[in-house]
Amino acid sequence: MRQCPPASLSLDLDNKWAYLRAAGRENWESCDSYFSLAISNIVDVLGPLGLPLTVFLVGRDLQRDDDVQSISAFDSLSKWEAANHSLNHLPWMHTMNDDEIEREIGGTHDLIVSKTGQTPVGFRGPGFSCPGEVLRVLGMLGYQYDASIFPTSMAPIARAVFLARTKLEGEQREKAKKLYGGFAAMRNPNWPYLRALPCPERSDTLDAAEAKIWEVPVTVLPFLRTPIHFSYLTFVAGYSVAVAKAYFRTALMMCRLFGTAPSLLLHPPDFLGCEDDADMAYFPGMIMKRNAKLEFMTWALTLYSQQFAVSTMHDQVCQFSPQPLASHA
Ligand SMILES: [Zn+2]
Repeated sequence: MRQCPPASLSLDLDNKWAYLRAAGRENWESCDSYFSLAISNIVDVLGPLGLPLTVFLVGRDLQRDDDVQSISAFDSLSKWEAANHSLNHLPWMHTMNDDEIEREIGGTHDLIVSKTGQTPVGFRGPGFSCPGEVLRVLGMLGYQYDASIFPTSMAPIARAVFLARTKLEGEQREKAKKLYGGFAAMRNPNWPYLRALPCPERSDTLDAAEAKIWEVPVTVLPFLRTPIHFSYLTFVAGYSVAVAKAYFRTALMMCRLFGTAPSLLLHPPDFLGCEDDADMAYFPGMIMKRNAKLEFMTWALTLYSQQFAVSTMHDQVCQFSPQPLASHA
């Protein structure tokens, strides 16, 4: 067996309002936050396993003291990296103009620095959207990696399910029709790779010919390109834990066999049971009771930590590229 490629683990810290807004619920702006319970459960599972974590933060949540306080619980992990998940979690960055994109990324960058004391070097677009302008802004801010690619064969199905379930109407529904990309998403690599940065403005530190950024896709099953992120696994486990376990074992085995460096993705509902939040109970993956779900997640993350040397995403790309690609301010 060849040596294990470096692996990573990340969390998209999407709050309840983002799920309710995506579902077209009118009360999304006034709903409560589930961060306190979800983050406490995440830390309880990851902590004993010694797993580090990259957390993609949404700027809007960093404007609320309660949520910032909840986020500070990640300090008890062996290591955690604060990364950028945009300001308002609008999953259609490909429809925004340059100024809007700069605000969405730059606003959250500044909030992360002031609220966590960390300087982010990684970004993931909501809805896995990454137009060229996003890369330009990331290069300007000195980011080391983007993580907005989801090279799955199920993108058109995921979009169809989303559109069937959401109550979004009018312009927002039209924008949502571009979510997740099409079958073209499958043409992207399923492993970290370097992308050229468009028109780098930091000519003081970047040679235009060498300006590149790591792209770290959310890993999917090699060949079949079906999802292996944990929200998909808990969705399957809601119907059969045995099938979900067999599928995950196979996925990790295939990543090892084909030398794919996995980057697996968590969401807060992966650590919440159907009894925890009535508003969330209707979403896919929310069939399981909390104890059963946490037991499954503990099993899966234990297996992941046993089979791979799991790091934060920044540490993962540093292992591919020992020298920083672009010094950040
Ligand atoms: Zn998100």
